[in-house]
Amino acid sequence: MSGSHTTKKEKNTPLRAVLFDMDGVLYDSMPLHAEAWVQAMHRHGLSMTEEQVYMNEGRTGEGTIDLFTLKQWGREATEEEVESIYRTKSDIFNEMDEPPAMKGADEVLAEVKGQGLLPVIVTGSGQRSLLERLDRTYPGYFCRERMVTAYDVTRGKPNPEPYLKGLGKAGAALGRAHALKPEEALVVENAPLGVQAGKAAGIRVMAVNTGPLPDSVLLEAGADWVLPDMSALAEWLKNNKL
Ligand code: CA
Repeated sequence: MSGSHTTKKEKNTPLRAVLFDMDGVLYDSMPLHAEAWVQAMHRHGLSMTEEQVYMNEGRTGEGTIDLFTLKQWGREATEEEVESIYRTKSDIFNEMDEPPAMKGADEVLAEVKGQGLLPVIVTGSGQRSLLERLDRTYPGYFCRERMVTAYDVTRGKPNPEPYLKGLGKAGAALGRAHALKPEEALVVENAPLGVQAGKAAGIRVMAVNTGPLPDSVLLEAGADWVLPDMSALAEWLKNNKL
């Protein structure tokens, strides 16, 4: 049967890296992003609900803005409009308190390191001070060579490009001439478009449902597993060797 063959193949390819999404996975930042998006869109005459922010999480700023102007204005936003709306969103976000670390994420990272796996960041975020903040919250786990951000990709999630780049960086970090094979990695995501991106790259995806959407949205996006939070993932990693 093909099912048992798949299981056997997975057992023969040990996991080497864990590709972490950032917002809603390593930081409890999504409530702040949701509020900033809703306010910024409203200031520019567009309506967006918090649920819509969560459904579009992972998309680039431009992609998100175009989607809403297309629906509500009947056209894509101009370059100036994209810049203006995204700047408003970033300004509102930056005025807020720094997002707290996600509860349980430190346990997950300790387990990943303890198992000799490579932690990699794959985020659609384009915040300039990302690495400094990561280094303050999770000292010693991340470096620029193992990060994929908005500056590294031309197409954001749900396109597989960010996660394919992540496999490439993980391969380079292990001193290989080639990218890591998809079956050597695990993606940790909280958003439906992020799950789709990971699956489109051929990687197994663990969804941690840290937001308000029902589990079914993440499963329909293709998640291999759904857990309620990062503490549950730390436990899961202790008991399930991939
Ligand atoms: Ca996310």
